[in-house]
Amino acid sequence: MLEVRNVSKVYGGKINYRALANLNLTIEQGKFVGVMGPSGSGKTTLLNVVATIDKPTVGEVLIDGKNTAQLSKRQLALFRRKELGFVFQDFNLLPTLTVKENIVFPLTLENVSIKEQDRRVQRIADKLGITPLLDKRTYEISGGQCQRTAIARAIVHEPKLILADEPTGNLDSKSARDVLETLQRLNQEEGATMMMVTHDAKAASYCDRVIFIKDGNLYQELDRTGNQQSFFQEIMQIMSMIGGADDEFSAVRL
Ligand code: ADP
Ligand code: MG
Repeated sequence: MLEVRNVSKVYGGKINYRALANLNLTIEQGKFVGVMGPSGSGKTTLLNVVATIDKPTVGEVLIDGKNTAQLSKRQLALFRRKELGFVFQDFNLLPTLTVKENIVFPLTLENVSIKEQDRRVQRIADKLGITPLLDKRTYEISGGQCQRTAIARAIVHEPKLILADEPTGNLDSKSARDVLETLQRLNQEEGATMMMVTHDAKAASYCDRVIFIKDGNLYQELDRTGNQQSFFQEIMQIMSMIGGADDEFSAVRL
């Protein structure tokens, strides 16, 4: 589904900075993969490269067999709109629109009929438990509800890959748990392939696999084999070896 081949990313400037170094990774269809690492290790850079928002300096990114380096700027924009779904830390919802209008927004760019728009919104809103909120504005709902709305918007066009950067970073622990359970359910019931960057070991313990990066290098990959609690312990152990995990924030509790 996703293949990152030998990717390096160097940011130019007064001093060149290598944010990613010869990174390789594969994510199979239907997997929920977490990306962890200390602050500044290259997590967001990796996500941006996978999202085709940023180009690798060396190497290539294949999504569903398509080499994104071979697409023109226009094709890339279209590809992102059709095949990718994004969830951000600060939700990125439009405050003047209702919840429903925010969710259908990607479809209005795609010539999807009103009837089909309604059908999809209803199905997704039911799934995410936000049907009673559809006519509210985003300032009338909680942070967790905002993030569930943002998730609905990210999946309404049925993307191949959902990318989330610290989706629980601005949420209290209960809302964070709601959002993580929502993502996990989408992954299990809809088979959505997901990549989630997070600082938080508890958040990462919802994933099938966690990829650890340090100084732009792949440090370790860990597959979940036992229950969530034991996966959490294993993640904590690796984070304590890499460093920089809990000095930042860790709001999510099971
Ligand atoms: P993380 O998300 O893991 O905290 P980032 O991917 O944001 O890390 O950043 C990795 C490194 O690359 C950091 O040292 C950061 O300062 C640097 N960096 C990120 N974006 C840029 C940029 N646009 N220009 C120069 N350096 C950057
Ligand atoms: Mg980051």
